[in-house]
Amino acid sequence: MMMLENKKNEKKGRQWIYPKLIKGKLYLYRNIFGWALLALLFAGPFIRMNDEQLILFNILERKFVFFGIIFWPQDFYLFVLAMLIFLVFIVLFTSVFGRIWCGWACPQTIFMELVFRKIEYWIEGDSNKQKKLDASRVSLEKVFKKGLKHLIFLAISFLIANTFLAYVISTEELLRIISEPLNQHLTGFIAIVLFTLAFYGVFAYLREIVCTVICPYGRLQGVLLDNQSMIVGYDYQRGEPRGKIKKEEINLHGDCVDCNLCVDVCPTGIDIRKGTQLECINCTACIDACDMVMEKTHRPLRLIGFKSEEEINTGKQFKFGKKLYAYTAVLVVMITVLSVLLIKRTDVETTLLRAAGTLYQLREDGTVSNLYNAEFINKTNHTIKLDIRPADPLVKIQYIQKVALLEKGGSTKLTFFISRPQKGIVKYKSEIKLNVLSGAVILEKLETTFIAPPTL
Ligand code: SF4
Ligand code: SF4
Repeated sequence: MMMLENKKNEKKGRQWIYPKLIKGKLYLYRNIFGWALLALLFAGPFIRMNDEQLILFNILERKFVFFGIIFWPQDFYLFVLAMLIFLVFIVLFTSVFGRIWCGWACPQTIFMELVFRKIEYWIEGDSNKQKKLDASRVSLEKVFKKGLKHLIFLAISFLIANTFLAYVISTEELLRIISEPLNQHLTGFIAIVLFTLAFYGVFAYLREIVCTVICPYGRLQGVLLDNQSMIVGYDYQRGEPRGKIKKEEINLHGDCVDCNLCVDVCPTGIDIRKGTQLECINCTACIDACDMVMEKTHRPLRLIGFKSEEEINTGKQFKFGKKLYAYTAVLVVMITVLSVLLIKRTDVETTLLRAAGTLYQLREDGTVSNLYNAEFINKTNHTIKLDIRPADPLVKIQYIQKVALLEKGGSTKLTFFISRPQKGIVKYKSEIKLNVLSGAVILEKLETTFIAPPTL
């Protein structure tokens, strides 16, 4: 493993990055926020709501749970709409706040900077010591430190893989894979191993390449950002011409003392003084670093700060422009539509059709009947005692077979006659109203057509 890291530095294509650790105010806030998100991420699969996992993306069974509400394949349109809202939100959020998600909330950055990088500092020392260790010959100390580090990396990757799978296949299924004999869950076990190796590869080797090359969101920044977007930016008006402080000279330089600390702390290895770059994940480490230098040299803080390009160029503060108003309007409309659809979403989804190829039946008791096929899908996480009742007391239902209980997440098909007195029917085709009930609660209101010869 250590050979691999050494070799990487020798390769032309990639310069291994050893960022310095600077503990400023933003570092502290980022830590608090990041640890809170990590706690939520790991607790998520164990939090239950309405007897369901808080969040579940079971792609295999096509079952999705958000805050205790189950969404089945029949709710796919809601899922698509929610994804579109998420996309517009990302566009709006990025236009305003740049890539702050990447630096502060993305699991990749949080795990890398708050977990894996810290373990590296703890075992191998600061960035200089890490460089030295990588460049040194194989020794007992090197083998021990590298071995221990990678072993811990593997253990954490295993934990992340299990958590990830708990969100995909559910906590119960994951516990079964872990606790029951291996041969009963070979596929699940292989999935755990593969995901563990994938996460290990990402955090031990790929690192910033995920943000700068692989992640599609990162690649989109060029399109989403404009000169009014808030980004981590260097105030070149203040900073240039940069130069070291020399006591004996009159200072003709700007505020940047060219200490290079902002570059040394950058986890993607860029120099923010060269302007906005796609590689900048807005982690704000360079803000802390530069603030520290400004404090020491008794200059105003935020030579590097969270500001828009326009603010740096003209001094004008950020304001909400036409483009952002348009994005916000679209977002509000979409959220409203989704909210209405969610409110109108019923616990039972019913498809009711008059049996194909059948006509009406005239009965001896003076009634006329039609034959219907219905399918009911229970979208809740509990069994429903199903009942169908016509809204009009003169209309009757006669089941051919009746299923009273509808299992959670299950579906059932029913065939039944609907009859009504022929007397009083004035049109060949009329409407019949039905209520789908569970006990006294109306779950869904239905309307269907009924055909019968009109009475004169
Ligand atoms: S330039 Fe600054 S904000 Fe951007 S990634 Fe580097 S350290 Fe983080
Ligand atoms: S940390 Fe600040 S002062 Fe030092 S090089 Fe970067 S911008 Fe200049």
